[in-house]
Amino acid sequence: MTQWFMEQHTKDAQFRIEVKKHLHSETSPFQKIDFYESDTFGKFFALDDVLMVTEKDEFIYHEMIVHVPMAVHPEIKKVLVIGGGDGGTVRELTRYPSIESIEMVEIDERVVRLCQEYLPQTAGKLTDPRVKLHFEDGISFVARKKDAYDLILVDSTDPIGPGEGLFSSRFYQDCFDALKPDGILINQHESPYYERESTEMKKAHSKIKKTFPISMVYQFHIPTYPSGHWLFGFASKKLDPLKDHKPQVWEQLGLSCGYYNSELHKASFVLPNYVKEMLENA
Ligand code: SAM
Repeated sequence: MTQWFMEQHTKDAQFRIEVKKHLHSETSPFQKIDFYESDTFGKFFALDDVLMVTEKDEFIYHEMIVHVPMAVHPEIKKVLVIGGGDGGTVRELTRYPSIESIEMVEIDERVVRLCQEYLPQTAGKLTDPRVKLHFEDGISFVARKKDAYDLILVDSTDPIGPGEGLFSSRFYQDCFDALKPDGILINQHESPYYERESTEMKKAHSKIKKTFPISMVYQFHIPTYPSGHWLFGFASKKLDPLKDHKPQVWEQLGLSCGYYNSELHKASFVLPNYVKEMLENA
C-alpha cells in the first residue's frame, strides 16, 4: 500500500509526498523526529510531522538565510546560529574563509546526530574546526551574551513548542544586546500567504521593528514549505540590506549558488502588495 507523508498546512489544505521508505522514527525529549525517502524530494525529515528539510530544495532556504547578510556585511567573523540542527545553515557559512567562528545552539542533540547519519548533505560541515555546537535552549544562551556576534541566524521551528520563545520581544532584545554595533539578525517570518489568517508573524514583526532601527523582510520560493512562498526578517543596528549591499565584494568570492545571486538579493526585498500591507499593519 502506498505510504504518504502528510502535513496539514491549514485546517482544510494538506501537502503530501509519497514515501518510498520510512527511514527512522523516534521521540526525543523535545519532539517527534522522522526521516523519510522519496523520489521527488530525496531524503527529508520532519519534526512533529512538520517538514523541515528535503535534500532537493534545502539549498534555497540555506542560501537565502546566509548569503543575504554576508553580501551586506563582508566583515562578519563571529556567527551564532540558533536552531539549525540539520546543519545546512552552517554548511553555507563554512564557505566563507573570512568567518572565524560559528557557534550553533540547538536544543535537541538528537536532530543533529540523526541528520549526521541520514542527511550528510546538510550536516557534513558540522565538523568544520570553526564550528562549536552547544546543546541547550537558544533563548537562555543568547541572554547571556553581550556585544559578541556580527551575525545571528535564527533557523528555528515554528512559533509553537520549543521554538515559541524565539518569537518574543525579550528574545529580540537579547539578540540586539548580543550583537556588535554593526550586527545583523536574520529570522524566520514564515509563509505570508497562510499567515494572513493568523497574527503570529505580524506580532513577531512588530516586536522586531520596535527593537531594531533597521527591520526589513525578504522573500523566496521553496516548494515544500506551506504555500511555497517564505519570508525571512533582516534586522540590524546600522546596516541596510539594500543601501549597504556589496555585490562586487560578494561576487569576487566566486561562490557558486543554485538560488542566490546579486540581482535576486535586491529583488527579494521587493514584496507583493498584500505582504507589504500585512507588514505595515503589524
Ligand atoms: N529550516 C527549518 C524549517 O523552517 O522548517 C528549520 C530547521 S532546524 C531543523 C530547526 C531547529 O530548531 C530544530 O532542530 C529544533 O530542535 C530547533 N529549536 C527549536 N526551538 C529551539 C530553541 N528554543 N533553542 C534552540 N533550538 C531550537
